[in-house]
Amino acid sequence: MANSTSKIVQESLEALLDDESFLPELTDETREKAFTSLVSILSTPNHVNKSYLRIALENGKVTRVPSFRVQHNNILGPYKGGIRFHESVNEDEVANLASLMTLKNALHEVPFGGGKGGVVINPRDYSVKELYMICKKYVQYFNEILGPDKDIPAPDVGTGDREMDWMMGEYKSIQPGRPYRGSFTGKSVENGGSLGRREATGKGVYFTFRYMLHNFVKDQKKWLSERKNIFAGTALDHIDKTLSLAFQGFGNVGSVAALEAFQCNHLNNKIVAVSDRNVTLYNSDGLDIPGLVKFTSNSGGDLPVDEEQLKEADVKATIKDRDDVLSLNVDVLFLVALENQVYQENMKEVKASIIVEGANAPVTSGADKYLSEKGVIIVPDILANAGGVIVSYFEWLQGRETQFFSEEEVFKRLFDKMKETFDTIFPQFFGDPFPLRQNCYIHAVMKISTILYKQGKLY
Ligand code: GLU
Repeated sequence: MANSTSKIVQESLEALLDDESFLPELTDETREKAFTSLVSILSTPNHVNKSYLRIALENGKVTRVPSFRVQHNNILGPYKGGIRFHESVNEDEVANLASLMTLKNALHEVPFGGGKGGVVINPRDYSVKELYMICKKYVQYFNEILGPDKDIPAPDVGTGDREMDWMMGEYKSIQPGRPYRGSFTGKSVENGGSLGRREATGKGVYFTFRYMLHNFVKDQKKWLSERKNIFAGTALDHIDKTLSLAFQGFGNVGSVAALEAFQCNHLNNKIVAVSDRNVTLYNSDGLDIPGLVKFTSNSGGDLPVDEEQLKEADVKATIKDRDDVLSLNVDVLFLVALENQVYQENMKEVKASIIVEGANAPVTSGADKYLSEKGVIIVPDILANAGGVIVSYFEWLQGRETQFFSEEEVFKRLFDKMKETFDTIFPQFFGDPFPLRQNCYIHAVMKISTILYKQGKLY
């Protein structure tokens, strides 16, 4: 079992035991037993599936590619979660990410459990034909455990609608006559994908931040007066003024979130930095995000790396080292790249007073503890980046009914759904001393435990 998985689950459960609304119908003794059962159920994935896919390369050689599908939990519905193509993928990481999906879906009342897949490759090292073969082989190996009512993959780091289309196509061929539209989400619109799915995670990330600020501005007097010592002199002391924003990551999620921040700039905030795998771009007067989005759509995704490319993009910026984005003097840091970006060695350099986790698990649990104690507000992954899986759920529903929503309808439904979650989480957060992450965990696990209890499976 993944260490970090058990740690995350353990932490959420510890908070639960002190919560009076956790299975209130039980006596102290039976509550304790129910708690122990819940720990063992949630801290272990149901299934860990692994295969070394055999791939014939275009150069005539054959290679073996390790690949995984971890099914953490299906208490709330079919397993659900992306498939990641990245060279650092490993079993522990996939299991950890699968458990986060269980919590994310429970938190937002999406009727799915948690799963995750991974393939240990750098997609940039393979031709389109080879990537197609890898997708086909993945489905050939795992198709028995996948399906619209069993386990529904989606895009993640390194995959997108192209890969989901290929995989669904293969699933359809291998399982003729079976329902296939809901077997994968995040497909192209032509193949039954949902309008708005590509932008959903990034839009949801920025929406979370905006909604929190709105609540914060509303409640700030009461809230700040209780925490004056912590926040004096930080961005939260002058929340009504312009805030500076930085984005680590400018891929599918980061670029959409940054563009959203640029376009719906209700609070007049300024995006002063963005970064990717090569560089950090900085401009204290604010960066031209649409200009950068345009540039990356023609550069294969990379931001300008030198003066010449900046000129070509017609964007004014200073080029800094890739990791400089983490230690800039900004008010808000959006972490929209990969996991474990803020950790023991660099956590003390972070100067932002708000961190928004657009990626999954970008702050290690030690760094989370340190920063939270310092008063930094960390908006956790399972709250902030659920836009993708929420619209995946809409895609799955639309595929079932073969009736499709307009893009406007998709975003309305997405924001309504996220708002529902925030409205249960934020008042608690503003009213008690728990960090936001813990509030989210308590809420998610409470939902799972109630369902288990009512099914007679928790005793
Ligand atoms: N990979 C995304 C996530 O981590 C989306 C998962 C999905 O749509 O199932 O939330």
